[in-house]
Amino acid sequence: YIFGKKKATEVAHLVWRHVLHKGDIVIDATCGNGYDTVAMLKMVADESGRGCVYGMDIQTEALENTSSLLDETATQKEKELVKLFPICHSRMDEVLPENTAVRLVAFNLGYLPGGDKGIITTSKTTLLALEAAKKMLMSGGLISLVVYVGHPGGREELETVEGFASGLCVDGWVCCKFQMLNRPLAPLLVFIFKR
Ligand code: SAM
Repeated sequence: YIFGKKKATEVAHLVWRHVLHKGDIVIDATCGNGYDTVAMLKMVADESGRGCVYGMDIQTEALENTSSLLDETATQKEKELVKLFPICHSRMDEVLPENTAVRLVAFNLGYLPGGDKGIITTSKTTLLALEAAKKMLMSGGLISLVVYVGHPGGREELETVEGFASGLCVDGWVCCKFQMLNRPLAPLLVFIFKR
């Protein structure tokens, strides 16, 4: 938990709420059990059927879990705004129409809660996905990451994310990190805003 009793993901959702508008197009780069997909869908879906969530995950189990959660929590009209793809997020540019203006690309890294802990995001593909996200993001958009450091490879992945964000030019990007200084294993949040 960070910020009192809020989970890291809930804090990320608070930030999204300040950035997103109804009708926006957003990407959930790691669908997992679908909680982030549903949260962003509720923020962008508008009554006239605008707004779109492109979701992806390399595990079909994750996409099935996401579909089930959507069945439980979203209306038929909202569900029609979600497109799910069984692909690596490094290929996100292949599934969106060319020149789509994307307001949010969200990553919740690591493994599928309740699933196979051996199937995790990796530094290499996370970096490729960040490069793809950077190209697709609109001005005023956000790349949001929840990064876990308690599992093998987690710290290396954090360093990769930090290296990517640190290298972005100051004129075009605002990059920040939330870290619990007295809980070294707590998840971290990285926010990359495009000016
Ligand atoms: N956002 C999810 C939610 O709200 O429940 C949690 C995501 S979970 C922490 C991380 C997910 O990333 C897992 O489901 C895993 O299969 C997925 N994943 C791992 N490597 C991936 C990759 N290269 N591309 C897309 N998804 C990946």
